[in-house]
Amino acid sequence: MEPTPTIPAYGGSSLADLPRSLLGALGVGDGNVLGLEPARRVCLFLVDGLGAELLRAHADRAPFLSGLTSRVLTAGFPATTVTSLCSLGTGVPPGDHGMLGMLLAVPGTGHLLNCLRWTLPRGVEPMDPATWQPATTVYQQAYADGVASTYVAPAAFEGTGLTDAVYRGVSYVPADTVDARVAGVKAAMAEPRAHVTVYYGDLDAAGHMTGWGSEEWLDQLAIVDRMAERLAETLPPGSALYVTADHGMINVTEKIDAETVPALVEGVAMLGGDARARHVYTVDGGAADTLAAWRETLSGKAWVVSRQEAVESGWFGPVVRQRWLGRIGDVVAVPYADCAIITAASHPIEALFTGYHGSLTPIEQHVPLLEVSTR
Ligand SMILES: [Zn+2]
Repeated sequence: MEPTPTIPAYGGSSLADLPRSLLGALGVGDGNVLGLEPARRVCLFLVDGLGAELLRAHADRAPFLSGLTSRVLTAGFPATTVTSLCSLGTGVPPGDHGMLGMLLAVPGTGHLLNCLRWTLPRGVEPMDPATWQPATTVYQQAYADGVASTYVAPAAFEGTGLTDAVYRGVSYVPADTVDARVAGVKAAMAEPRAHVTVYYGDLDAAGHMTGWGSEEWLDQLAIVDRMAERLAETLPPGSALYVTADHGMINVTEKIDAETVPALVEGVAMLGGDARARHVYTVDGGAADTLAAWRETLSGKAWVVSRQEAVESGWFGPVVRQRWLGRIGDVVAVPYADCAIITAASHPIEALFTGYHGSLTPIEQHVPLLEVSTR
């Protein structure tokens, strides 16, 4: 029997509910649905790929994090970095902000935009980040209310399309080492009021390459744990540190190459999304046949639904704006079994991964919200 998808708890306890709650704690706006306690300074430590179930399974390697006050949030759909970063940057669900996966059709063009690397096919005009993601960010809102926002992250991400789409309004502090990130946070948190985000990406990278729970991943978990402890040690009085993640991860035992299975190729114009949340864009008039073929081929392994079913089931949020509908596949294929839908010819490196994320399983959806405070 098909398992039940974990529908993100939009409006209650999803990642999209966190940013306005953080601002609410700072006295900005009235969107504190998570009921965070007031603080003069808040720091969000965003650990890419630190799923709540992954942390729980390896609590012994993260004694500091495991000892903190914790609750669980749902990431949002798809459970992928670009979508979650945009939910954190806008404070609204994916159906509202429109960052609906990693590889998305640019409607009317026949092209896919890689929202992570901000690349289009060679020769195509670059995409303007503010056109693709026009919503005001929470950082811009905080600034309008007198609170500056700081983002401490790798230098390589400064000025990228994704950063300009989701972090508009931050003061960007480039920092490539743990020491530099802790120092960057300490400096920003010294202000009378502060709203700081610090990012760590290497845990997710290790999970992709060798799987979560591998020695490489556990070494990264230990680094994250120590970094969180150091961030906590730098907190001035009246501050709070929150630790969360953009998604969890699953180690796969099977890969289905969608470019080599005839039933998955027939009628497909473009294949987007992520390996565990595929947007299948069909040729004109081909949606019903493609839906049937993908359903049959992936029977027992994936939820395979029409665009309309995905929207009506609330996967992307309570509503999807009309203008974003064309970014969703005519068919949406979301594995619940331990498998990835790869495209080895088009994306050879991603096809080699062990760990993947994107789907509506608890291990991918559940992220921790951990708290330390000096209030
Ligand atoms: Zn990842």
